[in-house]
Amino acid sequence: MTLHQLCIYCGKTANTKEHIPSKQFFKDKSDKPLITVPSCKVCNAGFQKDEDFFRQFYVSMLMARSSVAKKIMDGEISRSILRKPALGHKMFSQMKLIDAYTKSGLYKGKMTMYKVSDTDKIRIDRVVTKIIKGLFFHEFSTTLPEDWIIKIIWITPKVEQEQKLDVMAKQPFWRVIKEDTFAYWVNYVPKSFQSVWLLDFFKIPLFYVLVLDRKTAHEVK
Ligand SMILES: [Zn+2]
Repeated sequence: MTLHQLCIYCGKTANTKEHIPSKQFFKDKSDKPLITVPSCKVCNAGFQKDEDFFRQFYVSMLMARSSVAKKIMDGEISRSILRKPALGHKMFSQMKLIDAYTKSGLYKGKMTMYKVSDTDKIRIDRVVTKIIKGLFFHEFSTTLPEDWIIKIIWITPKVEQEQKLDVMAKQPFWRVIKEDTFAYWVNYVPKSFQSVWLLDFFKIPLFYVLVLDRKTAHEVK
């Protein structure tokens, strides 16, 4: 194994290993080793606040659907809310119930949606970008050149209901890091960095991500 000693985020000397995604997502020991990438201390620490928010946000949104998310919620996140009640208040005030319908228009009952402020959206996108850069390095053994565009598409619960994303799980490009916690799907154009990714947390697809060169990104609206 070759040792890559440069931080994949800024190119400076790497002196830490950054987990992709954050180690905090993994509740119990995994059968497989978690993905790590070389990172400098500054970049590693620089993501911390956004990653805390990211985890809190998705764990609270998905705890009704995943026992692992529920475990994290009942443990560390409940404790941090007790320490900082304002945080919990902010989180729960963003929730709202909406009516859900099937594709053919049948009423399916209520479901929880989250209002996301522009600042929150920026933070979440920053974390997803970081994850993609990490997974990209993991897959291609090289850093994604600066001029490539990472285009993130959020999979809302509504989109998820309407599309059969689980079909992708049967395809060979599916990488399961820990069955109940994190998996991703990737497919790419041969001899190019152009790629499509699907990120799945707690068995729920959350993001489609396109990695495109500038020219192609311009054409994809
Ligand atoms: Zn760095």
